[in-house]
Amino acid sequence: MSFYEDLVTRTQLNYQNYYDLYAQGETPYELSTLKPLTYQDQITKLVDAINAAEVILVGGASGLSAAGGGDFYYADNASFRKYFGKFAKKYHFKGAFDGMMRHWQDRAAFWGYLATFLNTTQKAEVRKPYLDLDFLLKDKEFFVLTTNQDTQFVKLYDESKVAQIQGDHRFFQCVNCCSDDTWDAVKPVESMIEAMGDGIAIPKDLIPRCPHCGAEAFPWVRGYGNFLQGSKYESEYQKVSDYLLKHLRSKILFLELGVGRMTPMFIQEPFWNLTLNLPETNYIAINDKYDFLPKVIEDRGMVIVDDLGKVLSDAKDLMLKLKGGKNA
Ligand SMILES: [Zn+2]
Repeated sequence: MSFYEDLVTRTQLNYQNYYDLYAQGETPYELSTLKPLTYQDQITKLVDAINAAEVILVGGASGLSAAGGGDFYYADNASFRKYFGKFAKKYHFKGAFDGMMRHWQDRAAFWGYLATFLNTTQKAEVRKPYLDLDFLLKDKEFFVLTTNQDTQFVKLYDESKVAQIQGDHRFFQCVNCCSDDTWDAVKPVESMIEAMGDGIAIPKDLIPRCPHCGAEAFPWVRGYGNFLQGSKYESEYQKVSDYLLKHLRSKILFLELGVGRMTPMFIQEPFWNLTLNLPETNYIAINDKYDFLPKVIEDRGMVIVDDLGKVLSDAKDLMLKLKGGKNA
């Protein structure tokens, strides 16, 4: 097992042991009670920390995409209506994930919905918070670890710089995990969307199937199915592990962006653990809701509790000003 996957596995055990606490949105860690800096001082500290770091490990989670308009997953809101309107009208789902959790008898209708879901993220432009982050990372040595499956980071960066440990909407796997194979989902999704037109179901013969056993395909993602944790999964963990082990002695900034309370084991708690154990490192989290900074790293850590899109945009503006006001 790779270095980072091992960290996650141990964190997961902790999560199970304290499940009741986590389920209430809390944490078993003792949190800092330091009074936070003013917002402006926090932005200054963020930009200073980025400038001072030798290496930045970005941990990008759902809040980052949500801040840029990718907020159709958990609610029947304006963006869900925009992309999933015809399905919202017929099925009354409370967001994109809700639709994935339903029991679909009609497979052609299910694939109409799923193809729409995948098409929405595959075709989405790079969202503004990602572009602002990209500006902040310019000229820096960095690596991105992400739980987002929406392919935003791989639209920006070479795949060698990104580890997508929860899967990727551009790939299919066998729904039964009959083999270790993953294959392209982009072309089949395009064909399904085109054939569906204004309807809400695809032609049955377009239902994508596993080339090995003939069962239905499924997106290569964790969360609402049987996630294939095979060689592709291992290679994502290997990338971030290799990167970290190579830079363990550097001044690393662990930059956590938009982690929710449901999955602290993939980015947040491993980052806390690494910060604690690597005395040269710093930790900064940006979160629109939760002010969770462990007491043991409070002297090398900070949480900015505010809108993620606004924080990244303000940090970008300050960085621009420091660089002499020239436009990016
Ligand atoms: Zn199969």
